[in-house]
Amino acid sequence: MVPSATIAVVGGSLGGLTAALLLRDLGHDVTIYERSGHKLEQRGAGLGFLPDASRYLVERCGVDIDEISTRTDTIRYLNRDGSVDHERAVTYHYTSWFTVYGRLLEEFDSSRYLTGKEAVSLRLDEDHGAVDFADGTTVEADLVVCADGVNSVFRRALLPDAQREYSGYVAWRGMVPESELSPTTQQALSDAITYAFYANSHILVYPIPSPSGSVAPGERLINTVWYRNYAAGGDFDDLMTDATGRRHDPTLPPGAAREEHVAEMRAHARARLPAVVSDAVVAAKEPFVQAVYDLEVERMAFGRACLIGDAGFVMRPHAAAGTAKAAANAWGLAQAMEEADSISDALNAWEPEQLRIGRELVRRTQRLGFASQIDGSWNSPTDDSLFRLRDEGP
Ligand SMILES: Cc1cc2nc3c(=O)[nH]c(=O)nc-3n(C[C@H](O)[C@H](O)[C@H](O)COP(=O)(O)OP(=O)(O)OC[C@H]3O[C@@H](n4cnc5c(N)ncnc54)[C@H](O)[C@@H]3O)c2cc1C
Repeated sequence: MVPSATIAVVGGSLGGLTAALLLRDLGHDVTIYERSGHKLEQRGAGLGFLPDASRYLVERCGVDIDEISTRTDTIRYLNRDGSVDHERAVTYHYTSWFTVYGRLLEEFDSSRYLTGKEAVSLRLDEDHGAVDFADGTTVEADLVVCADGVNSVFRRALLPDAQREYSGYVAWRGMVPESELSPTTQQALSDAITYAFYANSHILVYPIPSPSGSVAPGERLINTVWYRNYAAGGDFDDLMTDATGRRHDPTLPPGAAREEHVAEMRAHARARLPAVVSDAVVAAKEPFVQAVYDLEVERMAFGRACLIGDAGFVMRPHAAAGTAKAAANAWGLAQAMEEADSISDALNAWEPEQLRIGRELVRRTQRLGFASQIDGSWNSPTDDSLFRLRDEGP
């Protein structure tokens, strides 16, 4: 077991929090440094919730998975006229980013969750890491866990050649209270994850907890994720630019999409999607956009620092595995810190499996993206298209 160490976790979202909790449980002295100036507010939307992502809350905190997530037991593909094209019995859980974040945060000492701490650089030597922050302060640690997401400042410094690549499409996302939908639409969407495909596009719809955390049918939100192609350059830049001329990337937040884009998106939904699906899309009050990227890294361990979650690999969302991958990176790290005698031995033992998980996910989600957005060959719920972290297993 690595002797008690001082650990700085930079980035306090789901990946950073899970790593911090697991390392704290091993007896290390852990502090989280988060860029946002306040505890993270309601952010993101629905998430497919895989076992690795819920593992800390279920195993260490005794949380009942059904209290923090919604569940469906069917995958349903609809035709344009609303009739069922395919059905397959598969159980999925879903949650929302803020439900899991809030629950994990309750488990962590709030005096060690420091906000308004934007890391700007990292210095590493043989047995220390030093992180400099935008406020002029510096922190030294035995280990720096970089959990600072898709635009990771650490990844850019440690691996300058690892560039994210725009996939050619974005996700238009929305949420609407079930109770605001007509009884027919509500019923049609309540018991399954619903997919609809047409040329170069697909959408999925599933229920998630309400903002207050209710998972009771009738009180939940319906979450829509619609993948649409926008050519790199002109079309994509135009979409991601708000009414004030500010260019956003990778997320065009709620309220920022220009009126003409929202109107076009809603009209297109009516024209191309089954009525029950377009009802949910059109009813969402503040649709927002997330651009879809790929990014592969060749290393995740750097002596006294490591990259976890989206700071490492970024993959397309079709496996619903982003938060599970971040959590798996954290569980793997804790296990390695328990089994090794030194931090560098732990990181060396940890890295190969994390690289394998990341590469496998990038490949599979690229295959799925190509099959739905380019050649139209994804049109039934194959094993490859199931939500899961690993090619084999959950
Ligand atoms: C369209 C779409 C759908 C998705 N659907 C799913 C899904 O169904 N299921 C799923 O599991 N995943 C899904 N994901 C992926 C998932 O959202 C991410 O993989 C996950 O949030 C990564 O977690 P993270 O903790 O690594 O990074 P993030 O959640 O991005 O957190 C990074 C944190 O670091 C902080 N930070 C950034 N820079 C700095 C800095 N310089 N200094 C200090 N702090 C900093 C940020 O403020 C943030 O809090 C989806 C993604 C997209 C785009």
